[in-house]
Amino acid sequence: MLERYQGNARLLAGGQSLVPLLNMRLMQPEAVIDINRIPGLDGVREDNGWVRIGALARYSAIEWSPVVGSRLPLLSEIVRYIGDRHVRTRGTIGGSLAHADPTGEIALAALALDATIVVRGPSGTREVAAREFFLGPYFTVLEPAEMVVEVRFPHHQMVTAFAEHARRHGDFCVISVAALGEPAGDGGWKTVRLAVGGASHRPFVAEAASAVLSNTALEPDAIAAAGAACVDAADPTDDIRASADYRAHLLPIYVRRVLGEMKTRRRQGAT
Ligand SMILES: Cc1cc2nc3c(=O)[nH]c(=O)nc-3n(C[C@H](O)[C@H](O)[C@H](O)COP(=O)(O)OP(=O)(O)OC[C@H]3O[C@@H](n4cnc5c(N)ncnc54)[C@H](O)[C@@H]3O)c2cc1C
Repeated sequence: MLERYQGNARLLAGGQSLVPLLNMRLMQPEAVIDINRIPGLDGVREDNGWVRIGALARYSAIEWSPVVGSRLPLLSEIVRYIGDRHVRTRGTIGGSLAHADPTGEIALAALALDATIVVRGPSGTREVAAREFFLGPYFTVLEPAEMVVEVRFPHHQMVTAFAEHARRHGDFCVISVAALGEPAGDGGWKTVRLAVGGASHRPFVAEAASAVLSNTALEPDAIAAAGAACVDAADPTDDIRASADYRAHLLPIYVRRVLGEMKTRRRQGAT
């Protein structure tokens, strides 16, 4: 059906972004295609070292999934920051990724956790790494007749933490930072990965900051250097929630906070 409308149709999943856009006439497609009754697209399951989440899985299903809770605690934690109970009951992982809001928590989680996004279209199925999926604000590699069918997350054994600044809890974030660290035997950290949302036209993995932090004990100097590297890699913009300057001001503060939380969780025995 998407092919028939040649880019002038929109899929309806949870409707939490599409319906407001239609109501405000910001989007006027020729057709709306409801995918909610396609069977088999809303599963959450473990499979050979992966957690596979169907595109139609609701945020609330992810939030309460024991598989996600035990294998991907960072995703369980992050999803609770999205909207309110009503939004989480309807919104879907596939809709969130396809919508590609630069402040979206799911996009950040997919990047931080190195997810693979499975896309299907008339010419078959392809798998796209999350780091290659987002091209810009509300813009992805999806072709007009393609849809997201599944998101696959690899199992990991990292200590994780997340922090975000929003004007109110559940609002779209001003800035968000996720951290994943692999502990070393000497009390330090073998690798640390930071992913940042709200600070650029798309969420990003802060490669330079991650390099600064890996093979350290996360001393204050390393944390400060990582915060500065995140600011260098960011390209914040002004919007109704915050100015670009305020976002740049917040970023190192949230880097410090999230890394402090990650250290605390390690001491408490969390993975
Ligand atoms: C009050 C409110 C607060 C919110 N707060 C937040 C927040 O804090 N953080 C946050 O990240 N989001 C927030 N949202 C947005 C919410 O997360 C949306 O659910 C999400 O952006 C879109 O998911 P959906 O399933 O509702 O998709 P829909 O609204 O149905 O669709 C969104 C877009 O994706 C396309 N699409 C849907 N499914 C697919 C698919 N499988 N393949 C390809 N394209 C598809 C649609 O055609 C449409 O263009 C909020 C929304 C509301 C109403």
